[in-house]
Amino acid sequence: MVSQLSKEFIELLKAEETDIYLDEPMTLHTSFHIGGNADCLCEVKNVEALKHIILLCKERSVPYFILGLGSNLLVSDSGIRGVVIKLGGEFSAITPINDTMIKCGAGVTLAGLCVYARKMSLGGLEFAWGIPGSVGGAVYMNAGAYGGEIKDVVVESTYMDSNGNIRKHKENEHDFSYRHSIYTDTDNVILDATVRLEYKNPNVISDRMQDLMNRRRTKQPTNHPSAGSVFKRPEGYYAAALIEECGLKGCTIGGAQVSPKHSGFIVNEGGATAEDVKALIEHIKKVVREQKGVELCCEVKFVG
Ligand SMILES: Cc1cc2nc3c(=O)[nH]c(=O)nc-3n(C[C@H](O)[C@H](O)[C@H](O)COP(=O)(O)OP(=O)(O)OC[C@H]3O[C@@H](n4cnc5c(N)ncnc54)[C@H](O)[C@@H]3O)c2cc1C
Repeated sequence: MVSQLSKEFIELLKAEETDIYLDEPMTLHTSFHIGGNADCLCEVKNVEALKHIILLCKERSVPYFILGLGSNLLVSDSGIRGVVIKLGGEFSAITPINDTMIKCGAGVTLAGLCVYARKMSLGGLEFAWGIPGSVGGAVYMNAGAYGGEIKDVVVESTYMDSNGNIRKHKENEHDFSYRHSIYTDTDNVILDATVRLEYKNPNVISDRMQDLMNRRRTKQPTNHPSAGSVFKRPEGYYAAALIEECGLKGCTIGGAQVSPKHSGFIVNEGGATAEDVKALIEHIKKVVREQKGVELCCEVKFVG
């Protein structure tokens, strides 16, 4: 599909420091390697450029979507109408605030932040080693693993609202809960987050990170395209165990397969479409509902 945006609108987008990609395949920006084209993907370098695009989109009633590292997304086969905004440039900065606090741009990768924290002998982020997202995506989702969640370390975040105002949330104002934050299902753009960590021997930090990575590699299909766990953990159950008990391990629709290694993951076995994945999700939900009486809810976000 060719971009639905007018030439005039695209020219206006270019006014501030921004890299613009028209008809950009979302296969290149999602860990599933699935999705049609985005009308326009803008990589913004600073706050002014972001504000310019958000206000322009608002004025012209063009929808915008904030992309992190695309590791929790299923983008539709027909792509994304409007503007996809990716945070680059100054949003990739990591700045120490004091001995134990670090401010990081929303575009920083969790991996980059974990490595930086270890270099500074600061522990508390080991749980995040191996989560393939950005700081913005992690705060939005309250990402977590192995007993840790981003809510344990975030003390403050800065965001831009849909009017271009810059505001902050502190501590409990984040309303963090399981895979949810105050940012969930809003148009607000997370600009940065400040984390509070604690001094730890870097060798102890490294050992923990290595241990968690080994556990991931043993249990998860880390070498296949996926978006991680497709379903949230239902109260009192494990989604993967329910799916396996229903005999769905390895179940395949088109190019989408319930991972034979971890039933909570759907993997793209090659050429999977978003429709294949959606059909498989619906099939899993139906079978688990019928056999176990449990309603599974998606953790993966549908876009487009
Ligand atoms: C192999 C694999 C393993 C995984 N393991 C885990 C795990 O252990 N624990 C876990 O929690 N998750 C896991 N995930 C899922 C995923 O990595 C996390 O949800 C991650 O936090 C998503 O970050 P992202 O930058 O990729 O966000 P995206 O997938 O790009 O976006 C997710 C949502 O966040 C929003 N968003 C992103 N950045 C911003 C921003 N700056 N401002 C406002 N909104 C924003 C997007 O609009 C979207 O709604 C895994 C995924 C994979 C592929």
